[in-house]
Amino acid sequence: MEVITIAVIIDSELCNGCGICVNYCPMDVIRMDEESQKAITKYLEDCMLCELCVPDCPTNAITVTPEKTAPLMVSWG
Ligand code: SF4
Ligand code: SF4
Repeated sequence: MEVITIAVIIDSELCNGCGICVNYCPMDVIRMDEESQKAITKYLEDCMLCELCVPDCPTNAITVTPEKTAPLMVSWG
């Protein structure tokens, strides 16, 4: 069995706070941080890997990386 770990990485150095990605994400995974006025991720488990957020970022600040890993097998007895 494979486990998919989703990483949506937003480079805060590159993010200009335009908010385009927030409007494009259909799952509300990307929000604006009120303090920094930059995009941040919340509830990554809701991300459906559509990558709609990636091409529309004017500064290429977003990286979506699905990673498949084998779960840790534990046996006892
Ligand atoms: S689209 Fe890019 S630059 Fe604009 S808020 Fe999102 S991450 Fe930041
Ligand atoms: S890949 Fe799709 S669901 Fe995931 S953060 Fe980007 S726009 Fe939202």
